[in-house]
Order: sequence, then structure tokens, then C-alpha cells
Amino acid sequence: MKAWHDECAVMGVWNDSEAAQMAYLGLYAQQHRGQESAGIVALSENGHVAHKGMGLVGDVFSEESLNHLQGLASIGHVRYSTTGESFVTNIQPLTARLFNGPVAIAHNGNIVNSISLRRQLIRDGAIFQGTNDTECVLHLLAKNPSDNLMACMKEVLPQLVGAFSMVVLSHDRLIAARDPYGFRPLVLGERPTKDGGTAFVVASESCAFDLIGAQLIREIEPGEIICISDKGLESSRFAESPRLAKCVFEHVYFARPDSFVFGESVYQSRQRMGEVLSQESGVEADMVIPVPDSGVPASIGYSRKSGIPFELGIIRNHYIGRTFIQPSQSIRSFGVKIKLNPQAHLIKGKRVVVVDDSLVRGTTSQKIIRLVRAAGAKEVHFRLASPPTTGPCFYGVDTPKKSQLIASKMSTEDIRKFIDADTLAYLSIEGMLKAVKGSVDEYCAACFDGKYPTGLFGLDESES
Ligand code: AMP
Repeated sequence: MKAWHDECAVMGVWNDSEAAQMAYLGLYAQQHRGQESAGIVALSENGHVAHKGMGLVGDVFSEESLNHLQGLASIGHVRYSTTGESFVTNIQPLTARLFNGPVAIAHNGNIVNSISLRRQLIRDGAIFQGTNDTECVLHLLAKNPSDNLMACMKEVLPQLVGAFSMVVLSHDRLIAARDPYGFRPLVLGERPTKDGGTAFVVASESCAFDLIGAQLIREIEPGEIICISDKGLESSRFAESPRLAKCVFEHVYFARPDSFVFGESVYQSRQRMGEVLSQESGVEADMVIPVPDSGVPASIGYSRKSGIPFELGIIRNHYIGRTFIQPSQSIRSFGVKIKLNPQAHLIKGKRVVVVDDSLVRGTTSQKIIRLVRAAGAKEVHFRLASPPTTGPCFYGVDTPKKSQLIASKMSTEDIRKFIDADTLAYLSIEGMLKAVKGSVDEYCAACFDGKYPTGLFGLDESES
């Protein structure tokens, strides 16, 4: 069973007569975090009402389905899973009726001990509907003898190991919690409602707030649990942080550049990654070209620091999905051609620095370099605004198995030959941490340095 690759975003809204509409817009803004399924649960006068489906937010919801989601509070979720475990039963938010009423839950991140928790729960008589790790949380809540949901959550959450930024909606409160390591982001905001009140909002990324006119109040802290009800907002801790392990890949690639993640602007940290990269691995060239869109902010930084002019030398067709997540190798390579078009009139006869955020399998990069050479580039210098990806992520980013990560089996020189670049250079781990203004003991960089901050409960054995 492989349920730990989910990429997701969550959304929560409290005290807004358009709660479901706000969740819908918030999910729309966070679509980049998951394109496979979407769902919203609203708290109506008659209890929870849900609408969920496979596909993009814009396809799953219609005006009619949103009108059906009446109520003053809602939670929502988008999800992408790589593993074929994308049954309808796994679509979040998950809902259940517990001791004192309905509970809905939506979760971003992966709980690394979920398989052993699930085994134990099944042995104890639990009947699971899907294969997703979030369902364990519902069963653990159901087993807890306390009739106070907050007290229950505070006992259940410390049993989970790994990454979880979650929102829970009961009949009378919205709860938001973030794991003690703080792997995935989770932010709190507020917005004025059309009837003159104030709504609280929770999202994975702050870009969701921009769309709905909400103000970012702050991050939900690692190990913090927040309870929002008619009595207002209460914050407490359910666990101390053994250490922080904020996911550096959020800043490298995953988050939207217009978000503030872990208190820093993603756009600015990507620019700094490009600046540091140019200092570490400068080269003589005529222009800096980003791989759109993922390499754009880093290219701007690279160009600024090196003084080499920035050009949009490759134009992207925006009407196709991300090539990386196409199911088969043949479609993936074809996808690059439909998606990216080098501008021969700019590139011809030039020495170009091509900047991307990361190199994972190497297949996309190889195709891009081939296209740039075919457009007449004299030299192609490939620069990556992150270190070599050498290990899979077990905390909620979709990275391939270790054996498919090109840098886990080839030297930089062999990769250079494979992708056919004149030179190839990566950002150093120290350079990346400098760019995110962080240190190695507050960030998780396991995909780059192999240092996983938690035990892995055997997950690594099936992922080699
Ligand atoms: P490749 O050359 O095949 O390794 O592909 C590298 C491209 O994949 C880069 O442009 C990255 O932006 C992108 N990428 C890296 N990680 C991910 C991910 N988890 N999901 C989707 N795309 C990714």
C-alpha cells in the first residue's frame, strides 16, 4: 500500500455566509498543490453537506453544487496522488459521525506511521473505507473516550508521526492543527464578510487569502492547535517540537511564488536562490533563460547578480497540465514539445544559461536542452536552483522512487552528458538554506541530503 505521496492543499472558513464559495475560491488558488480531486464540506443547519469529485476544482464544482453547500463554515481539500490509490473513497474532506456529531477532516502531508496505526486499528475492529492515511485520524478520534473534540484531538495528534497540516469541522467548531515539525505550511487569516462581520480563514498557502480578500494574520505554529467557534479563537499546543523541519522544497518548487511560506516570500527566496547560484556557479554567457514557469524567479536572481541579460527564451503554452505528472514516459516526453517553444530568433548563435528550479529524473531537462540546441544555441549551460535530488519525500511531496532519481545513481558529470549540456551546476545545500534564510536544523532537506527528521516505519524499504 502506498498512500504517502499525496500532494494537497487545505482550506477552512468560519463565520461566513458564503463559506463554501470562499473555500471554492481558496482551493482554486491552491490548485497547483493537487489536481486530481477536490472536495468541500459545509456546516449547514442540518449538519454536514459535502460535494466531492475527481478532477480540477473548476470541473468538480458547479454553481448548483456550490449553492447546495449552504452554511456559515466549511472546509475544503485538493489532492494529487501518484499511486493509483485515487478512489472516490479517498477524496477529502473525509466525513464521519462520531460520539457527539459529525466530523469532517482535510489533511495535507503524509503520516509516516499510518500503516502501523491502520494495522492496529483494524486488529481492534475498525472498518476502513479507503487507503488514505487521514482515515486513521478519524478512527483514532472515534476510539477516544473523551466527549470533547478538542481534548480528543490533543490525545490523538501526538500519536501521529510525520507531516500533517489539517482542518477539522465539527457541528460547532473549526479546528486547525500543524504537526510539531512544521513540515507543511498552514496559515491563519481573517476577512470582512458582506454582512459586516469577520470570518476566520485557514489555508495551506497565503495566495488563497489574496483571492478572497483575506488578511494573513500569522502561520499556525508547529505543534499548535487552534479552535475557532462562536466563542472566538483559542490556541493551545498539543506537543512540543522535537525540532523544526519545514519543507525546503515548498520554497524551491511546490508553493506558488506569490505565497508567503514559513514567514518568507516564496518569490523572493527563489530569486535569492538564483543569486546565490550565480555566485557559486557563474559562467560567461549572452543570456539567462528560465524554464517557464518553475525557473522564472531564480533566473531573474541569476541575471541580476551576474549581469547577464534575462530573456524569455522559451515560451510556455499554458493550456496543458504539468508534464511531470503525466502517467507514462512516452506522453511525458511528447508533453515537453507541446508545452515549451524556444524562440530561435533570440537564441540562435548565443551562449545561454538555462535555469530551472530542480532536476529530478532528468528526462524533461534533456528534452528542453535538445529543443534549445535545435533552436541554434551555441552553448547551453544548465543551472539548477536547488541541490541534486537524491531521495524520495515521505512527507507529502510527490517525488519518484530513489531508483528513478537521476542524481541518486549518476555523478553530476554523467548527468551533464545525459542531458547534453555544455556545463551543469546545482545550488549547494548551504546556498539553498542561505536563500531561505534558514538553517539545517529548522528545515527538512531530506530529498537533497537524505537526513529524514523522523523514523520512516519501513516506508523507505519499498521506495528504493
Ligand atoms: P526532469 O528533468 O525530468 O527531472 O524534470 C524536472 C522538472 O520537474 C523541473 O522543471 C521541476 O520544476 C519539475 N518538478 C520537480 N519536482 C516536481 C514535483 N514534485 N511535481 C511536479 N513537477 C516537479
